[in-house]
Amino acid sequence: MPCFWCDRFGVRLTRDHVKPRCAGGGDEDNIVMACDGCQASRNQIQQYYTNAKVLRFKVAIRWPDAGRRHKEQIRRMRATLLKQLSGVLTLVAFWTQRETDRWGSSPTAALDLTVPDLPKRRA
Ligand SMILES: [Zn+2]
Repeated sequence: MPCFWCDRFGVRLTRDHVKPRCAGGGDEDNIVMACDGCQASRNQIQQYYTNAKVLRFKVAIRWPDAGRRHKEQIRRMRATLLKQLSGVLTLVAFWTQRETDRWGSSPTAALDLTVPDLPKRRA
């Protein structure tokens, strides 16, 4: 069996959730067998999605009562995500194209990768 994404034979294959579980993807009609290289590349998007989601949660729920150290952590996380954003968007475009080639549509194109703004300081 070849890798679903790159069609290579003779490589180790593992289960790949097309739409990441952390983005609400289930097991049904969502699993393909993929090689380590394709997995690693797709995992970068998944990791980014998870981090952006965590940041969104922290900004929405835990700000601004979490203290100064937490504020600094959120600021750093946001800066890191913004730095990675263009690279991740390039990856997303690549995999979106590949999913569209295979299926005629892309299950992951709708992932929300936006980095939330830091909230305004309370008066
Ligand atoms: Zn592959």
